[in-house]
Amino acid sequence: MSKGPCEACEELLQGYLDRELTDDEVSLAESHLDGCEYCRRRYRFEVSLRRYVQTTAVERMPPGLMEKLAELRSAGA
Ligand SMILES: [Zn+2]
Repeated sequence: MSKGPCEACEELLQGYLDRELTDDEVSLAESHLDGCEYCRRRYRFEVSLRRYVQTTAVERMPPGLMEKLAELRSAGA
């Protein structure tokens, strides 16, 4: 198995991308990204992937759907 040198920090990176980390973990992730070329590349890839998925998902929505979703969200709460 050779997925890369940094399988151990995979989870940290995912949490960092999802903004689910504590402050301590964030600084851990950031200092790791600072020193680790492999994770830095992975991080950039994941960020652009997520951005791409988000924009295409929004673009594909029929007009008015975003407003409707916003309405539903405020009504349901
Ligand atoms: Zn790494």
